[in-house]
Amino acid sequence: MTWTLSSEKLDQQNIVIDESLFALGNGYLGIRGNFEEGYPEGFKSIRGTYINAFHDITEIQYGEKLFAFPETQQKLLNVIDSQTIEIHIDGEHFSLENGEVVSFERKLHLDRGYSERIIHWKSPNQKEVKLIIRRLVSFSKKELFAIDIQIIPISMINEIKLFSTIEGDVSNYVDKNDPRLASGHAKLLSVIDVRRDENVNIVQNKTETSNLEIACISESIASVEYDCDVTVTNTGIRESLTFPGSERIQFTKLNVYVDTLRHGPAIVEAGLGVIQNARTETFEEMLEAQKQYLDRFWSNADIEIKGDEKLQEGIRFNLFQLLQSVGKDGVSNIAAKGLSGEGYEGHYFWDTEIYILPVFTMTNPQIAKKLLKYRHSILEFAKARAREMGHKQGALFPWRTISGTECSAFFPAGTAQYHISADIAYSYIQYYLVTGDLEFLKEFGAEVLFETARLWIDVGHYYEGTFRIDDVTGPDEYTCIVNNNYYTNAMAKWNLSWAAKVADMINSEQVSKEEAKEWQEAAEKMYLPYDEKVQINPQDDTFLQKAVWDFEATPKEKYPLLLHYHPLTLYRYQVLKQANTVLAHFLLEDEQTLETMKRSYDYYEKITTHDSSLSYCIYSIMAAKLGYKDKAYNYFIETARLDLDNTHGNTKDGLHMANMGGTWLAIVYGFAGMRVKENGISFAPFVPEQWQGYSFFVQYQNQKLKLELTKTDLNITLVEGDELEVTVYDEVFVVQKSAANSIKLR
Ligand code: BGC
Repeated sequence: MTWTLSSEKLDQQNIVIDESLFALGNGYLGIRGNFEEGYPEGFKSIRGTYINAFHDITEIQYGEKLFAFPETQQKLLNVIDSQTIEIHIDGEHFSLENGEVVSFERKLHLDRGYSERIIHWKSPNQKEVKLIIRRLVSFSKKELFAIDIQIIPISMINEIKLFSTIEGDVSNYVDKNDPRLASGHAKLLSVIDVRRDENVNIVQNKTETSNLEIACISESIASVEYDCDVTVTNTGIRESLTFPGSERIQFTKLNVYVDTLRHGPAIVEAGLGVIQNARTETFEEMLEAQKQYLDRFWSNADIEIKGDEKLQEGIRFNLFQLLQSVGKDGVSNIAAKGLSGEGYEGHYFWDTEIYILPVFTMTNPQIAKKLLKYRHSILEFAKARAREMGHKQGALFPWRTISGTECSAFFPAGTAQYHISADIAYSYIQYYLVTGDLEFLKEFGAEVLFETARLWIDVGHYYEGTFRIDDVTGPDEYTCIVNNNYYTNAMAKWNLSWAAKVADMINSEQVSKEEAKEWQEAAEKMYLPYDEKVQINPQDDTFLQKAVWDFEATPKEKYPLLLHYHPLTLYRYQVLKQANTVLAHFLLEDEQTLETMKRSYDYYEKITTHDSSLSYCIYSIMAAKLGYKDKAYNYFIETARLDLDNTHGNTKDGLHMANMGGTWLAIVYGFAGMRVKENGISFAPFVPEQWQGYSFFVQYQNQKLKLELTKTDLNITLVEGDELEVTVYDEVFVVQKSAANSIKLR
């Protein structure tokens, strides 16, 4: 049951949410869970097909444009639609609003990689059919999206007609009132070719400005003989297929998506090659290939929770959706909403490095490597941006981007979040500590570390003997442009000291001894604010001087605050959108004493709204560390089911990918207390009272561990590898292959 997400809801409100929840993808191609047959009049639907990183460039309109504000931005495009297949039974159009839906079931199979709808339908004229509509976005042939419809006549039927279309006249969804969505530029793709070549339908589109092209190549296959009429319009192709009504029909529509970002200029030829290959397989064989891929994925990534099915469903769903959205080709990354919706316009943020990358680093390092390579591939843009921003040296990574340039139009909560550069540097180090891959560090990581270190030297300055960073924004977007943001300074310190260490380790010719010394010194002298009176790390130099937000006078409807208050109002108060100092305490726990972290947690928790979905998981992890087991558990619940229960109210715009990574982090770093540092891998686990136990896998230094927790014990098995040192609550164990290690929980 926990491998299948099911829905029987059919009301209008849920349709758009289910379109996100039932989205399918493979990291390259993403398809929202729209209905093939379309929607009745008045029903709201956000129809979407996306190719990761396939974008156009649009101008940013400013009322007042100041120096170095980005002029353009990239935008993920909704591309050629191949989802539509209307079904007519003896002339009556099947729709869920028409006739009678005797039964309806919708499922997403997390272990098998497909979705299905099983519908028993009675038409207004009492014609009855059973429909099984399955679809998959292939993991093994990334260009392929296949829809398979079985029509099983129950009553006497003379004729069944299908109208299947490929439509190139598509646009993006807009909402002028929500800053998290796009407000304009609906139409950016134009159709440049529509043709039918033998039985294959080809629609090719081109973007307005980025000069990218995309083609959808589609072919219909059926188990029964049929007549086919084809209408080719200026923007698409419609096939009218007529079948006898007397027998069961299996109809498969193969849709192949190719683009010039990956397939070179001859995309149609490339697509024809893929479809030629795809047509040699039955839909059932494609399903088998999906299963094999997912078996491998789950054998590395599954987390089992004993004693709570709802949370079990949550964690598996979240991991599955991460896998479906994560770019695996080095030219793409993972968007804030993955490939499941248009929120945040398909942009990549720090979400990747801090919330998502650790999941892949520890369960599927090959994917993590691709994400890191993507960042390296945009390093030149980051250097150019640093110059544009007035820095003599270094690289400033864009706050949000697709192809590498800054896409944030609102600099206080965008470009000013300089911490993204340290977050990226941090993730290269984490990857190195987990995998031990020195070659990769040399070839890709070192340069990123050096360039980001150079940025901190340029942006920071010495004052009364300490190194300081002024006028930046930390992760909390309700407090902007401040001096000495604790998170930023702590991360920059880490960035600088690791840059110096790596320069020495690899004996880099890119860095002189003097420069490495300068980095080391800035790291040592980095000012990390501490307030003697409250005995916490203040978020920044002035944070504690501000008035505390009046939470009692703020009704529930006013959340998220960003939709109801001007940013300046929010900046003037002690109120947090999301974890900031508490996040720094998680990532860099050796900077402070446990007491300081505990007092800080208690302080910030009271004034954090969690208006950003990136917050709960961090509060869960730190609660676990500090011994607040109930809090750890309650915050975990918030992360595990955030999209499934639409608790943030905007799941329709796409799934919250960072939070989905956060669910994994909350179990592994939170409940199991895992940390990976220079001296190895360690755990400090507990089992939430409400559970019987849980288990998970991690990969470390090319070896694979399985950790199984019961109410009383931790059992560690080395699934792959020969021998590994593991620290559990400060005690070192040598775990050997095929020898059970059982440790009593404290
Ligand atoms: C959060 C950011 C995050 C972005 C994309 C915002 O609401 O405040 O931290 O990067 O969403 O997920």
